Amino acid sequence: MQFHLNGFRTGDPGLLDPVSLGAAPPPESPRPDVLPAETDVLIVGCGPAGLTLAAQLSAFPDIRTVIVEQKPGPLQLGQADGIACRTMEMFDAFGFAERVLKEAYWVNETTFWKPVAALAGNAAGNQAGNQSNIARSGRVQDVEDGLSHMPHVILNQARVHDFYLETMQRSAVRLVPNYSRRLVSLVRDTETGTAEELAYPVTARFERTTETGVGLASETIRAKYVVGCDGARSAVRQSIGLSLKGDSANHAWGVMDVLVVTDFPDIRFKSLIQSADEGSIVLIPREGGYLVRIYVELDKLNANERVAARNITLEQLIAAAQRIFRPYTLDIKEVAWWSVYEIGQRLCDRFDDIDPAGAPNRFPRIFIAGDACHTHSPKAGQGMNVSMQDAFNLGWKLGAVLRGQSGPGLLHTYTAERQAVAKELIDFDREWAAMLSAPLKKPGDPAGAGVDPAEVQQYFVQHGRYTAGTATHYQPALLTGTPAHQHLARGLVIGTRFHSAPVTRLCDGKTIQLGQTLAADGRWRLLAFAGRGDKAAADSPVGKLCAFLAESSASMLRRYIPAHADLDAVFDVRAIFQESHHRLAITDMPEILFPHKGRFGLRDYEKAFCAVEPDSIDGRGQNIYRLRGIDQQEGCLVIVRPDQYIAHILPLGATDALGAFFDGFMLTP
Ligand code: FAD
Repeated sequence: MQFHLNGFRTGDPGLLDPVSLGAAPPPESPRPDVLPAETDVLIVGCGPAGLTLAAQLSAFPDIRTVIVEQKPGPLQLGQADGIACRTMEMFDAFGFAERVLKEAYWVNETTFWKPVAALAGNAAGNQAGNQSNIARSGRVQDVEDGLSHMPHVILNQARVHDFYLETMQRSAVRLVPNYSRRLVSLVRDTETGTAEELAYPVTARFERTTETGVGLASETIRAKYVVGCDGARSAVRQSIGLSLKGDSANHAWGVMDVLVVTDFPDIRFKSLIQSADEGSIVLIPREGGYLVRIYVELDKLNANERVAARNITLEQLIAAAQRIFRPYTLDIKEVAWWSVYEIGQRLCDRFDDIDPAGAPNRFPRIFIAGDACHTHSPKAGQGMNVSMQDAFNLGWKLGAVLRGQSGPGLLHTYTAERQAVAKELIDFDREWAAMLSAPLKKPGDPAGAGVDPAEVQQYFVQHGRYTAGTATHYQPALLTGTPAHQHLARGLVIGTRFHSAPVTRLCDGKTIQLGQTLAADGRWRLLAFAGRGDKAAADSPVGKLCAFLAESSASMLRRYIPAHADLDAVFDVRAIFQESHHRLAITDMPEILFPHKGRFGLRDYEKAFCAVEPDSIDGRGQNIYRLRGIDQQEGCLVIVRPDQYIAHILPLGATDALGAFFDGFMLTP
């Protein structure tokens, strides 16, 4: 963490100083609870998607954001709890991963349980005991080694919300939600209004609510952009005439967070339990060492039936769980939260209000994210994770357009990228959910109907990268380069998220994850991996690249930067060397890797790194070149998007291609 750039300050360095970041002084406290007449971005809904977007936008001191929620305050209990490795990497970018790591349950292994009768080797008919009792059929490592520098963890969604709210509140703009307001109408003005209407073309009307939901008064706000993060029954989605398509919400789930006394030996392992006749359970140990979450799959609903109509009680849920757990006992001492909810695998065709095929010269102003555009079962633990990744994808793009760095065409990439991800998720979820709900194959009858327990376990392992959130792969397009130079870094696949590895910081010998330098600040990263012997001397490939990037003329990357601003405000250039940090000196680095910054012209010491030496005690085998298949002879340039996805890989000398890539979507101020 870097601070004191613009002068020494006492106190909490995480509480950003608005004035030194170019924002207005902190608003009066307590801030009046009224909506402003106008804003740049209006976010509807304080779920995981809305809060991720708000946290991202709060990193831009020059953008005004309003986030509105119908509930009277922050979420306290329940809902989703699984946090995938990829999401943890994103939390790291927002600066609160360490707090989650400390508080959360870490999913190390997953166990599988089946009825005794379904277990292999039982075909001859082991008649001892009750054949419908469950027994452990397998155990797998939850996340494959080296998949991410972050673990898969479990933490209450409400705590995730808390961390986001703190991030927003401590940002330069001190963003806090406006609660107790329900969106009742949303209209995009026609393209022929007054200048004022064209500047703020979307008008939203909210009704004030109390805890009991009684409408009090109505408020109107005009926005440049509106993002509906308002969940599966999204009013924003309806306002732009979109609908969720797919299976109706036909599967009912019961879920309870409980404190329990049990003789079930895997109560502190994530477990998938399939009973003979009583349905299945997903057991999730929770943070704190005692609490567990039990998902009980309930009956299929009839067409158009709502789960509320079934009047399922907590007692029924507990009894169903106890039947599935037999022969183990489940003595529930306290129920912290429970819910019964219905779910179907459903998806929207678009995630915004403009179809470029039908209106090539119009650009989106209204977007939807998260459950508003896709819903799926909780079996793969993806709902919250994918929703947050939607918002991370959209946030920096809105920032770039509002700050004049890119034209509005950039916004079309949101639907293009995220709708494809959601479609894959729906297909995966449908297959996985069907597998877990299918009847089990009779032992000794491999050709018979049903699913083999071993298949379930195999499928889980095969799709581990998917559930970890690391399988997302954006295809070549405006923001994703072609793989012509992929061979220069085979393990950093263009279109996937930057897969971190350890490096040693040149200035102080500290070994860190390179991925931890990719903060959620809207900047592009240019990571120059030096070839063998390249120490950034003026005539070396890294030296020449640095000279090119630092050029003050209006050519190449400088042309995208306003005259008064530093290149560093948009492009964060870093280099990684193969030499030991003992054989290089930070003071020998080119200016762009050792820049003068801030009002005192202090030097930034943290832009140059070295591969971890193979013979160092901690770093054995941790060389980033070897781990990520980077060409040690040639080196390469890795371009990483503000949301940590690899946009392109180029040779260090390919400055024309570098310029051409950014020309595709960046504007000259
Ligand atoms: P949400 O979390 O649904 O957030 C939407 C927000 O918008 C809400 O705060 C809502 O109050 C607000 N809102 C809605 N309409 C308006 C309006 N008109 N005006 C203003 N505000 C509005 N997933 C799991 O993986 N496991 C679970 O156990 C699980 N349990 C769930 C239980 C419930 C009751 C619900 C509703 C969802 C559950 N989910 C669960 C799903 C998971 O929580 C979602 O996938 C995830 O929260 C999606 O995030 P989101 O931000 O898109 O939407």
